[in-house]
Amino acid sequence: MKPGSPGAAAVRQFLEREAAMGRADLWEASISSYLRAMVPTGAPAEKPTAPTPPPTPNIAAAPTLDPEADSLLFDLPSSPVRGPEAPLAGDSLEKVAAEARACKKCGLCEGRIQAVPGVGSGQSGIVFVGEAPGGEEDRRGEPFVGRAGELLTKILSAMDERKLIPNVPINRDTVYICNVLKCRPPENRNPLPNEIEQCSPYLYRQLALLRPKIICCLGKFAAELLVGARGSVASMRGKVYRFGSSKLLVTYHPAACLRNPSLKRPVWEDMQRLAEEYASP
Ligand code: URA
Repeated sequence: MKPGSPGAAAVRQFLEREAAMGRADLWEASISSYLRAMVPTGAPAEKPTAPTPPPTPNIAAAPTLDPEADSLLFDLPSSPVRGPEAPLAGDSLEKVAAEARACKKCGLCEGRIQAVPGVGSGQSGIVFVGEAPGGEEDRRGEPFVGRAGELLTKILSAMDERKLIPNVPINRDTVYICNVLKCRPPENRNPLPNEIEQCSPYLYRQLALLRPKIICCLGKFAAELLVGARGSVASMRGKVYRFGSSKLLVTYHPAACLRNPSLKRPVWEDMQRLAEEYASP
């Protein structure tokens, strides 16, 4: 079976569905052996011309594959462009926000003070997607207002001051900021697969309504969901993906930069890449 053939695509879809349902071992074992079979030891992996992500929307938390396998997965050819084509009739950001605030689809509603749907106009055509609200966000009902949020706000100011995108003001009002999960996980633990599955339709609707030029995934959970494959941020950043009509880039989560300040430089490089991609067709 060749990578990219209809049979391979069907196998991938089956295995990814299994992974989304929490049966990640099967996914990992099968994909790893599939990749091993496709790439003879020592032979250079064939590089396809255009990296296109695979077609499954709900890949959730699961063990990371090795970086070599990751990059092969992302480069598998002939996958269709993922993402929403058009918003639902009559939908609006206000409607999504109201539904998220009333949502009881998963257990996170029990511990929240309030849901945190998103903030900003998105008029710049840039959307940042993080992981989930933390304590401060839960209290204030606004994403990225805690320590990680302060760093994100600083990054936006630096982009604006240095006119990274000429004639496009960059700040919390002109971008849109939201998360994969709209409610805070207890003790800020990682999102669970079923929480991502229940909550991601709100994000997909937001993206369909905003139709941004560029989506920037902050951290692994947003990246895995929207790229549609598993992997480390390190293996996903530096590439340009597509999500519907939007370009999609991956960078480190601001909270990761707070834990490890050496990640700030790569994040800034990613913002420069974002600006370049913004300017190009
Ligand atoms: N981390 C996130 O991913 N989102 C927030 O809103 C705050 C912290």
